[in-house]
Amino acid sequence: MQSKPSEKKWKAGVLGATGVVGQRLVQMLGDHPWFELTEVAASERSSGKTYAEAVRWHLDSPVPESARGLIVKGLDPSLDCDFMLSALDSSVAGPAEEDFARAGYPVVSNSRNHRMDPDVPLLIPEVNAAHLDAIPLQQKNRGYDTGFIVTNPNCSTAGLVLVLKPLADAFGLEKIFVVTLQAISGAGYPGVPAMDIQGNVVPFISGEEEKMELEPQKLLGKWDGSRFVDAGLGLSAHCNRVPVVVGHLECVSVGLKKIASLEEVREALRSFEVDAELASLPTALRNPVVVLDDESRPQPRRDANAGNGMAAVVGRVRECPLLDVKLTLLSHNLVRGAAGTALLNAELLAARGFLNRRAAVQNQSVAEPVSR
Ligand code: NAP
Repeated sequence: MQSKPSEKKWKAGVLGATGVVGQRLVQMLGDHPWFELTEVAASERSSGKTYAEAVRWHLDSPVPESARGLIVKGLDPSLDCDFMLSALDSSVAGPAEEDFARAGYPVVSNSRNHRMDPDVPLLIPEVNAAHLDAIPLQQKNRGYDTGFIVTNPNCSTAGLVLVLKPLADAFGLEKIFVVTLQAISGAGYPGVPAMDIQGNVVPFISGEEEKMELEPQKLLGKWDGSRFVDAGLGLSAHCNRVPVVVGHLECVSVGLKKIASLEEVREALRSFEVDAELASLPTALRNPVVVLDDESRPQPRRDANAGNGMAAVVGRVRECPLLDVKLTLLSHNLVRGAAGTALLNAELLAARGFLNRRAAVQNQSVAEPVSR
């Protein structure tokens, strides 16, 4: 792991800290080598309480000591942080994240509201780190000073695109047909009513197919210096909610530009390795795609935590009679599909110096009264 690119830890705040994604962020920040959690914010239902009182904690490990006593704040952009991680409900995330960015905070968001904005990076570091080059234009367009917004994709898109990336690099992509089996935790808490999902499958998740058909185009496309250019893929998604707590399974058929054998496809996935910059980030995996040979895998219960939840696990790579190759993939919807990728995005921003300007302004204003 890379040594921390700064002497002090950056101060992190979590918006929507009491939700299922926010809790993951709080957990992952509990012992983070570069970031310390200094502020948590949520709705009026929670604000004013300590985090331990406000949160309905779903994780096996206890609430981190560093978070227990923090007082939950509202969405006023005056928090003691160098940057914000946002896991806000999408009903409030749009304007709230803009308010924080305008007030000077880098905002790393899980929410859908700004993902497709023409000047906002939609980022998976292993896939399109070069899209961070859009940040200066975003700041100029919007009159932001030290603040900006970076987003991560929808939970089922994150696993899919991580697996498509090595195939795009090795063979080129033409068409993708995907059917998802998505866990109930993807709907937040309390999520899908038990009466709807127990012993059942719900073949509709509002807005999900649209997101899965749009977001990969931006992620696998390019930033040309002034705008994002789509990847131009043919993409069709069917999204289903299934009675699984964690882990989105996806059955994918892929049409490749270049003819490839199944062994070449498996090898491209297996050997997908991140570069030295990414490998040095605390949350990164050197090989983020895991290929299993057992034909009954991947399975949500057995494989969702692979690579601490940051791996996309692939199995059943075989010929497709309609397109070229088909496979099954699984990813942890709350880690790779949300909190883990957000944290990795923040680490990449830190490593590239994007958090330094706000942190410097903060330190100055703290230091000022002392020096006068
Ligand atoms: P969730 O469990 O429903 O949590 C929502 C959070 O937003 C809670 O902290 C809640 O605070 C806060 N909130 C709600 N209304 C608010 C208001 N008016 N003002 C301030 N805060 C408010 O949802 P989630 O599943 O964690 O999802 C969070 C975001 O991540 C959503 O935008 C979602 O689309 C996105 N996302 C989720 C997943 C997933 O797998 N679940 C994956 C990728 C992205 P209170 O507790 O005080 O109500």
